Amino acid sequence: MEKRLTVKQQEEIKRRAEAMFENAGISLTENEKMNKLKIVDFGLGYEGFFKIGIVMVTTINTDKYCGRYILFFPGQSCLQHWHPDVDGNSGKEETFRTLWGNVYAYSEGEKTQDIKAKVPEGFEKYYTCAHESVLNPGEQITLRLHEKHWFQGGPDGGIAFETSTCARDAYDQNEANYSAEIH
Ligand code: ZN
Repeated sequence: MEKRLTVKQQEEIKRRAEAMFENAGISLTENEKMNKLKIVDFGLGYEGFFKIGIVMVTTINTDKYCGRYILFFPGQSCLQHWHPDVDGNSGKEETFRTLWGNVYAYSEGEKTQDIKAKVPEGFEKYYTCAHESVLNPGEQITLRLHEKHWFQGGPDGGIAFETSTCARDAYDQNEANYSAEIH
């Protein structure tokens, strides 16, 4: 059963995200706040959004390259996902760099014992990657093409900048077959 965020909840989330950007010293224009600050929501309701969801601001996305801020509230995760090839175009390759707070990154490869992130309860089967990279400000990770991955914000949350090839978000794949609604 899907529980979409109400308009009021979306507004509240956006105000909170704006405050986090401001606190981090990251400037956004009024136009970006109005039109580019986007909530990625998987239909899990308000409480669920703070477990699985993100806020993003895409600064550029052409058929060749993409740049975006990705914000995690404390303990919030994105869904584990990967980026398939689309119509003969290679899947998205991404470098993910923490600007503020901490972000825990998980990718394929040797599993880390006692990972720092808490896998969202009830969603364990959709989070199979446990190769951990702790990304403090100024630290980054580059994911391999088609590699599965997920991220989680640290205790205060985290803001990262992602540099990548073209983002075709609607084609992103996840284990749960959830589709994201972007508000
Ligand atoms: Zn990704």
